[in-house]
Formats: sequence, C-alpha cells, structure tokens
Amino acid sequence: MNQKILLIEDSHLITKVLRHVIRTQVDLPCDNVMTLAETRKRLEADPGGYFAAVVDLNLPDAPNGEVLDYVLSHKIPCIVLTATFDEGKRETILQKPIVDYVVKESRHSYEYVARLLRRIVRNRDIKVLVADDSETSRAYVSGLLRSHQYQVLTATNGAEALQMIQGDPAIKLLIVDYNMPEMDGFELTRRLRREYEQRDLIIIGLSGYGSSHLSAKFIKNGANDFLMKPFFHEEFHCRVMHNVEAMENLEALREVASRDHLTDLYNRRYLFETGSMLYRQARKKQRPCTVALIDIDHFKRVNDTFGHEVGDQVIRAFAERLQERFGDYLVARFGGEEFCVVFPDTSLEEAAGLLESFRQETEVASLPIPDGDPLQMTVSIGATDALCSCFDDMMRRADVSLYASKEAGRNRLTTE
Ligand code: GH3
Ligand code: MG
Ligand code: MG
Repeated sequence: MNQKILLIEDSHLITKVLRHVIRTQVDLPCDNVMTLAETRKRLEADPGGYFAAVVDLNLPDAPNGEVLDYVLSHKIPCIVLTATFDEGKRETILQKPIVDYVVKESRHSYEYVARLLRRIVRNRDIKVLVADDSETSRAYVSGLLRSHQYQVLTATNGAEALQMIQGDPAIKLLIVDYNMPEMDGFELTRRLRREYEQRDLIIIGLSGYGSSHLSAKFIKNGANDFLMKPFFHEEFHCRVMHNVEAMENLEALREVASRDHLTDLYNRRYLFETGSMLYRQARKKQRPCTVALIDIDHFKRVNDTFGHEVGDQVIRAFAERLQERFGDYLVARFGGEEFCVVFPDTSLEEAAGLLESFRQETEVASLPIPDGDPLQMTVSIGATDALCSCFDDMMRRADVSLYASKEAGRNRLTTE
C-alpha cells in the first residue's frame, strides 16, 4: 500500500521540524521537496507512492497555492500549511477537498500535523455511516468524512441505517440527523443503544438550528455527542476526531487488560468473557463448540533444572507455537503452564484431529535452551464439546478429561 508522506515546504527550518515530528510520531517514510517543479517530478516518477501530502501554499515557483491544486489532482489527501490566515483565505482553502489547514505558528501546529497524519492512516480502516434524508446534507457530511479518509456509507432513513449497522460490524461511527422518515434519529439511537455500547459504536446526532432541546434529547437517548447545524468544518472534525480517539484509547486499554503479560496470549479474564459469548452463540445457533485444556507435562522439572527464567522463556516459546497452530481459534493462557483453546463452530471430532496432531508435533519438536541441549517436552490435553449448562461447566468438564490424561500417563489427549 502507498505509505509515504510527501512534504512540500520551502523553508529548511520548518522542513526539519516537520520531518522530525513525522519520524517520531507517525512512523512512516517521508520525502520532502521545496518547489512546484520538484513536486511535479516526484509525482510523475511515483504517482501512486504517496498516501498524504503536507503542502505549503507559498513556494518560490508557486506563490498562490498552485501546488495544492496540482497535488489534489492526483487524489492525494492534503494537509495545508499557511503562514498567514484570514477569513477569506480560510473560505478559499476549505472549498477544496483538503484534510485540514494548519497555520504555521508554533510547535503545537506541527504536532497537530502529526496527529492528523496518524488519524488519516487509521481512518482508512474505519467505516462511518451517514444517516440523513436530505441529499445536500448527506453529501456535505460525507465529503467532510471522505476528506479525512474514512470509508463512508449512507442511508436515507433510520430503518435502513439500523439494518446496515446490524449487518456490518466494521461500522464504528454513525452521524445521524434527527429528522428522517420511517424512523427518526432519536428512535434509531434508542434502538441501537439496546445492542451497542457507546464505546463500540459512536453516535453523533445532528440537529437543526434553533432547536437546542434536540441536542439534549440526542444525548439522553444515548448519543455520544451532537452538532447543531449549520456547523463549522473545524467543529465537525474536532468532534469526530475527539470521539474516535476516545474510542481507540478505550480499545487499547481493553486490549492491554485482556492480554497475559508473559506470553501476550489472551488472559483468563478474557477467556471467560469471550468463551461465554461463544458458548451462548453455539447454544443459540445450535452449533457445536469444543473446549480444550492443554497442560505441559512435568513443567516443574524445567524450572528445577534450568531455573525460573528459562522456564519463562519456554512458556513464551510454547505459547507462540500454540498461537501459530490455533490462531484461527480463541487461544488463552489459563494460568501457569496451562492453556485453553476454544473452537467455535467445531465438532469434537474435528478439534480432536487438530489437537492430536499438535500433541504429536510437540512430542517430536524441541525448544532451544540458552547454553543447553534443546528441550523435549510433552503435553496432556483434555477436550469436550458437551455444552453442559454454561461455559464454566465446559471448562470443568475439559479439566476432568485433562486430569484423566495425566492419570493415564501424560502425553495424551482425552475427549469426552
Ligand atoms: P504435570 O505434568 O502434572 O502438569 O506436572 P507439572 O510440573 O507441569 O505441574 P505442576 O502443576 O505440579 O507444576 C507447574 C509448575 O509450573 C510449577 C510452577 O512453578 C510452574 N510455573 C507456573 N507458572 C509459571 C511461570 O509463569 N513461569 C515459570 N517459569 N514457571 C511457572
Ligand atoms: Mg503441567
Ligand atoms: Mg499444571
């Protein structure tokens, strides 16, 4: 994918500052040029190579922003740099489909450029739905979102929007107008909040001028935020960016909280949460689900022989192998040297085939030990697809099978 940034700026100092900020905060390669002529050369040589450009409006051979139109004609998202700013200039710049403009004032301005660049890299993976019956308003809002590289979908009424969101979990943000036929914005918001938390689906309500109570009503019905029409370009992007960033921060926190620190596999808490969800789905759809517990045999000996630190390395290497082998399923560290794999939509017979191959592979494979002979080890496994009364019960059942494997001499799979 095109991942380079093109920096078009004739000041050496600003180029230096921006290159530094981009290198440290965006982590994408950046080419810089200083004139319109050089820009042409670059884009002719590598027309598809840039995913975004940072464009100075005033260049020696293009004093009136000519370079902006040229870069935009290549369909490259542009962040505009300007030294001077007035209302007229703002209007002119914002008529073009740019990402945003930044006035060269302070270090903060350049940090903002980096923040925008990070945002538009990520936005390409985020789907946004615009639900509004007015074609003009729909097109305006969609245009703003597209300029920030979101994948934009549209709906003309609430019922259609509801259906689209239910059918596409990649939609993370809904911009919804109050006034729509069939199902209005409030009703849609209320309905969606029965299924989706604020952190999973951002809803921003739009309400017309002079009806401030509508904003309050949006919030009361579960919207994350609202905007009163007509709104400024900047106001819109600020709200959207703020909400999307908040969602991503929460997601990052959730991700950290669901990982095991030693192996980076999912931890026990996540296992029970997600396992229970997969269990309920299996029940509802009347589909099979298999749960397996995998325990390393005589692991205590590894610690006793090589020390705890090597023991940790062995657990990490084993976890990696498990993830490689069962990455399509839910793999978690249950605790210590015991792991769990949940196979949704998979019969015991099918899962047992995979588990038995894994057991055999483990038996013949060896793990490297620093300053020592490679380590041979074996695993005992217990698996079940009996749906029991809940996920915890399934885990207990798998544990009984695991115990049976241990009792029968280890290095084996017991199913029930
Ligand atoms: P069995 O075949 O019956 O499973 O024997 P075992 O020695 O593997 O099982 P046991 O439950 O008796 O001991 C597990 C050992 O795993 C003891 C514990 O110190 C070690 N262990 C658990 N968690 C960790 C860890 O995070 N790092 C290291 N290095 N060792 C761990
Ligand atoms: Mg063990
Ligand atoms: Mg154990």
